[in-house]
Amino acid sequence: MDEFSLIRHYFTRTPRHASAILGVGDDAALWRPLPGLELAVAADMLVADRHFFADDDAFDVGWKALAVNVSDMAAMGAQPRAVTLCLALPAADPAWLQRFAEGFWSVADAFGVDLVGGDTTRGPLTIAIQIWGEVPAGAALRRDGAHEGDDIWVSGAVGTAAAGLLHLQGRLSLDGATLTAALDRLRRPVPRVGLGLALRGLAHAAIDISDGLVADLGHILTASGCGGLLDFAQIPLVPGLHDLRATPAVRDAILGGGDDYELCFTAAPQHRTRIGHIGVELGLSLTRIGTVVGGSDVFIQGENGEQLQYGRAGYNHFAGEGA
Ligand code: ADP
Ligand code: MG
Repeated sequence: MDEFSLIRHYFTRTPRHASAILGVGDDAALWRPLPGLELAVAADMLVADRHFFADDDAFDVGWKALAVNVSDMAAMGAQPRAVTLCLALPAADPAWLQRFAEGFWSVADAFGVDLVGGDTTRGPLTIAIQIWGEVPAGAALRRDGAHEGDDIWVSGAVGTAAAGLLHLQGRLSLDGATLTAALDRLRRPVPRVGLGLALRGLAHAAIDISDGLVADLGHILTASGCGGLLDFAQIPLVPGLHDLRATPAVRDAILGGGDDYELCFTAAPQHRTRIGHIGVELGLSLTRIGTVVGGSDVFIQGENGEQLQYGRAGYNHFAGEGA
């Protein structure tokens, strides 16, 4: 299969949005932003053996590659609209491409995202997606808006995907519904777009948890010039992780494990009831896990009132290298 028939077969569909004036097939796509809207633009790259295993089900690879990009729109409070897809493939393997495309289009259809262009080349398996979304001017949920006194909230459960990875690495043994939930979250994260949209005008700051709760909350606090107080006992977990939360590996998965793609956000305490209603409407648990404080440190209070020591570095691809 040559490059052009591959693109035509797997990756060419008529755009659904009126704003997409021209999709796949020309030198560039054309997009007409509506008046009063800002474009939110983000990109995320997945590299084989670093972000996924080369022998993973290609459906999950396609799902996750798009889902992590959609999650960046959720974290900005933007409505995801369109993506470009750049693929480096070691070979044009129809079975792999078919599964990859199915996973990719599942997420695209679920969130109404158009694929409007990309690039396809031979090379080590790499998937680079750029996404844009729309947000009313000035309404984006940025990282730098947290205030002292804000509640710190998180959606869903934390540490789930990292626990799944620990299981696959043989460092933790999960079973039953807990194992299913953990592997599902690791392989098919669900971007919290509805939550991001509902939090416009309500949250002061938001981020999606890709690198770990403490690290990503740390990005909000650093950008906002604040510190934070986290209550470990309040951090929401899937049921099977609850009894394991004191073990070092699980504690680290909760505080430092990435890949959950839940939203962490801050909001004034006066909005607690409204935020509670949003959770009910979305069928998504929203939990208060701490408070924004002065200074620049993140304190984590353990279950017996003790202070937990935890670095806020998160995952860093170039840790320990010069410059
Ligand atoms: P050019 O040489 O102008 O860069 P290409 O030959 O790379 O164009 O691509 C032809 C068309 O197919 C372009 O519109 C491009 O955006 C689109 N395209 C290429 N690869 C992909 C892909 N993986 N997914 C979606 N569209 C793609
Ligand atoms: Mg090209």
